[in-house]
Amino acid sequence: MLIKREHGFLQRFYLLEILTGIRITMKNWFFGKNITYQYPEQRRQYSPRYRGQHYIKTVNGVENCTACMLCPTVCPADCIHIEAGEKGDKEKYPVKFEIDILRCCFCGFCEEACPKDAIKLSNIYEMADYERRVYDKDFLMIQRAKK
Ligand code: SF4
Ligand code: SF4
Repeated sequence: MLIKREHGFLQRFYLLEILTGIRITMKNWFFGKNITYQYPEQRRQYSPRYRGQHYIKTVNGVENCTACMLCPTVCPADCIHIEAGEKGDKEKYPVKFEIDILRCCFCGFCEEACPKDAIKLSNIYEMADYERRVYDKDFLMIQRAKK
C-alpha cells in the first residue's frame, strides 16, 4: 500500500536535514576518533581469516604440491592452470602452476580442497599492478617468505 506523507515547510526545503547533517559532521570532526591510516607507514591489521594473495608452501625449497588437480577442479573462476610432470621417484609435481589473478574471486576453495596444504591464501593485500598478471610457480613460491 502506498502511503503519502505530508511534509511541513522545513522538510520541503530539506533545511532541517541539511542542518542535522552538518551537526553530525561537526560532531565527528571535532570529537570523533581519527580512523585515517597513514599508509604506507601505518598498515592496517586484517583479520587472520583475510584471504589475500596466494602462495605455494614449500618444504626444503621444494613445492608441497603433488599436482593432484583438485584445486583447478574446485575453482569456480577457472583461473588455476597446472601442468603435471613426474620426478625421478615417480612422484608427481607441477611443471607449470599458474593463477590468473584477475579472474580469482578469493573464495578460498582451492586452499580448502588441497590435501597437501600446498596452496594458501596469505594476508598480503597489496596486489595492484599496471598490467594483467598471471602468477607463475616461481612467483607463488617466493610469496611465502613475504607473509
Ligand atoms: S580463491 Fe577461489 S577463485 Fe581464487 S584461485 Fe582459489 S578457488 Fe579459484
Ligand atoms: S595445490 Fe594442492 S590441490 Fe592444487 S594441485 Fe597441488 S596438491 Fe593438488
